[in-house]
Amino acid sequence: MILVNENYSLLQSSYLFAEIARRIREYESTNPPRKIIRMGIGDVTEPLPSACIEAMHRAVDEMASRDTFRGYGPEQGYAFLREAIAENDFRARGADIAPDEIFVSDGAKCDTANIQELFARDIRIAIPDPVYPVYVDTNVMAGRAGPATDGRYAGLVYLDSTAANGFVPAPPAEPVDLVYLCFPNNPTGATATREQLAAWVAYARANKALILFDAAYEAFIRDDATPHSIYEIPGARECAIEFRSFSKTAGFTGTRCAFTVVPKECRAFTAAGEAVPLHPLWMRRHTTKFNGVSYPVQRAAEAIYTPEGKAQVKSLIDFYLGNAAIVRDAMSRLGYEATGGANSPYIWVRTGMDSWKFFDKALRECQVVVTPGAGFGRSGEGYVRISAFNSRANVEEAMARLSATR
Ligand SMILES: *Cc1c(COP(=O)(O)O)cnc(C)c1O
Repeated sequence: MILVNENYSLLQSSYLFAEIARRIREYESTNPPRKIIRMGIGDVTEPLPSACIEAMHRAVDEMASRDTFRGYGPEQGYAFLREAIAENDFRARGADIAPDEIFVSDGAKCDTANIQELFARDIRIAIPDPVYPVYVDTNVMAGRAGPATDGRYAGLVYLDSTAANGFVPAPPAEPVDLVYLCFPNNPTGATATREQLAAWVAYARANKALILFDAAYEAFIRDDATPHSIYEIPGARECAIEFRSFSKTAGFTGTRCAFTVVPKECRAFTAAGEAVPLHPLWMRRHTTKFNGVSYPVQRAAEAIYTPEGKAQVKSLIDFYLGNAAIVRDAMSRLGYEATGGANSPYIWVRTGMDSWKFFDKALRECQVVVTPGAGFGRSGEGYVRISAFNSRANVEEAMARLSATR
């Protein structure tokens, strides 16, 4: 008899964005007075930088000729891309990362989801709340979270990110083995200071724990004092894996390219307490289960590190940050407490009511879609996430409409 993985039945309700889509469809069927503006979903809206498009075109042409055609590439990514990443994203910031510690992939979602395969089943896991749902759901599927009551899994340690701690949780008093952190944060837009990250690195070293650091929004950091990488913190190489993506940096959500950094010193332990390097394990997993990102896409990704590419990426992010400033200022002027949006495309807004209730109100009264904070975890209740990924005209129109919520 084929037995099913019953852990799937422990997953909480439907995926957040499916429920949002359902409510929008239901409302749209009642003939709303005007077009709905979606300020909710975390997908980019602007086209790829021209440097990426030109590089991709050239690479496609190479595939058309026997002399320059490429078949299977190295699963970890082409050296040209890994060298550009190591130099520009890490060494230029004083973070000592070598090209062979970088694994190019088709997404930070897949990598943050798949990495848990490297760890034993009975580990203690700390997860921030509110949180990007992938970290929780993949551990539920793997049988690590146990049953849920009132939206919280018995087997997880929750790190509440609230106004009281500036949405940056401190390490817990109890020891845990695996910690997920994401800065700049989705959904709160919070960033962590060097001192806050250093406290986490010290905790991980003291507890023989591992940090999984999701830096998908690193390119939005404009404040010089904020670290872009966990490897800017001394000691992180042995206790942290970092996830990056071209999705939000350069508009690759539909093009697909990302990477994971596993330093050679990074370790987990056997039950007997012996340290085991994770680099060969992830190498084995990646080369066994993944075929690599297509050559034209890796060439397009490489192009963001050219002088033109850098300038284009900067103006792309500046554009979204301009939207974010408009959202934050508009919501603040309406009297809402609004945080994030300075080094992040997300603005986290305290609504003064149940977050799904505010969602329905914004949809019905303003025809504006926001993301209910409760969908990201219990500590997101009372908040909504507003995204800066939109056209300037839509952002301005949406902010004008939301004044009707007051
Ligand atoms: C968008 C996002 C990613 C990027 O995912 P890709 O699979 O690379 O598109 C990763 N982490 C968080 C928190 C995100 O919001």
